[in-house]
Amino acid sequence: MNITVIGTGYVGLVSGVCYAELGNKVICVDKDLGKIETLQAGEIPIYEPGLKELADKNCSAGKLAFTTDLTEAVRQSDIIILAVGTPPMPSGEANMAYINQAALDIAEAMNGYKIIAIKSTVPVGTNERIHELIRTRTSEPFDSISLPEFLREGSAIKDTLNPDRIVIGADSGSAADTMVELHRPLTEQIIVTDIRSAEMIKYASNAFLATKISFINEIANICEKVGADVTKVAEGMGYDKRIGQSFLKAGIGYGGSCFPKDTRALIQIAGNVDYEFKLLRSVVEVNQDQRFNVIRKLETIFNGQLRGKTVAVWGLAFKPNTDDVRDSPALEIIQYLVENGVKVKAYDPIAMENFKGLYGKEGVIWCNQALDTAQDSDALCLLTEWDEFAEVDLNLLQSVMKQAILIDGRNVFKEEDLLGTDFVYYSVGRPSLN
Ligand code: NAD
Repeated sequence: MNITVIGTGYVGLVSGVCYAELGNKVICVDKDLGKIETLQAGEIPIYEPGLKELADKNCSAGKLAFTTDLTEAVRQSDIIILAVGTPPMPSGEANMAYINQAALDIAEAMNGYKIIAIKSTVPVGTNERIHELIRTRTSEPFDSISLPEFLREGSAIKDTLNPDRIVIGADSGSAADTMVELHRPLTEQIIVTDIRSAEMIKYASNAFLATKISFINEIANICEKVGADVTKVAEGMGYDKRIGQSFLKAGIGYGGSCFPKDTRALIQIAGNVDYEFKLLRSVVEVNQDQRFNVIRKLETIFNGQLRGKTVAVWGLAFKPNTDDVRDSPALEIIQYLVENGVKVKAYDPIAMENFKGLYGKEGVIWCNQALDTAQDSDALCLLTEWDEFAEVDLNLLQSVMKQAILIDGRNVFKEEDLLGTDFVYYSVGRPSLN
């Protein structure tokens, strides 16, 4: 099939590359000329394991191209997939400006029947609204499809080529059939539903996963007070098939470009129809508070005297294997520390440049290496569970620090890892060692 994907961010680029890998002819469009020039030069503007190899392979095979020319791309394609951003507005509502603009551009470019699918996460009713917006601007025939995306950054290629399920929201049988045919090589698990339900599946899925995280984090906080170990509790819970092991890892809470945005958007979507989503409000509140778990521990250790201390931070991305720092807990934690007179030294294996750009403030010493970051610090906070942190020699680490205090915000280390060291060790929901 001939496909145009609009938006070459984490979702659009990975999707475009994977559709090409399936044997389709794909044109990826972005209005960001810098991104397109980078892609045309054979470079990948984001960090995503395996993406470059697959992009190179499909470009060489003539199945994948990059352009800023949306009109030409649309004219050459039968299926148009929107994967532009829907970032949060201050109210929590999703910003539809990019979707609207792309829809207007598609309407202008129409030259015959097309399937127009929205992969971006959009509030319920958006596909219908966009359908109307295009319909009133072109006489060319088209069908609208809701095609929500469930990939995870860091394993996006694997998730896209082996999805748990594909959800297709459609009100046209033939367009749904075409989309099923497109995705059939990926999985048997294809759910075809009405458009509004498909839009809702995406928000409900993310809200449920966020709920699991906030739930286990509250259990962790209680574990700390009653002397239980949340990792054992989660394991014991997870063997129950109704519960499952995944998303029961206690820590400093979720971040990234999806969970924070989509939970707030769903609260807003519910609010718009006079429904107060009390459970989800609490999930968001718990998550916000959980970020300060690390800071509360630092304050306890230093008797509230943080000013003048040197604190090392390992990990700035919102999770490992990505360079995405949008709504990363590290942003607020570092800001709090700096504002409270702490000398902060920070390091991330991949996300440093993105973090510097988004943080945009002075007062942090940026380091190039894990051990250098910890050098002469009074405490070390681990905020992202990159593999390289788990592999550091803890005796060596202790020897370079001023005080051997380790706050493990992601429960990376086990008790036995710390045997033979003098670390004062705090994690989340597990007994502290000192
Ligand atoms: P992103 O910000 O990384 O990329 C969006 C891209 O769209 C940018 O490159 C931007 O320049 C481009 N763009 C915006 N308007 C355009 C226009 N009119 N024409 C051409 N290009 C345009 O966003 P993302 O993280 O890839 O997310 C895209 C959507 O997918 C969002 O709705 C998000 O909620 C959803 N989603 C994201 C993830 C994820 O893990 N990132 C997972 C599932 C769903």
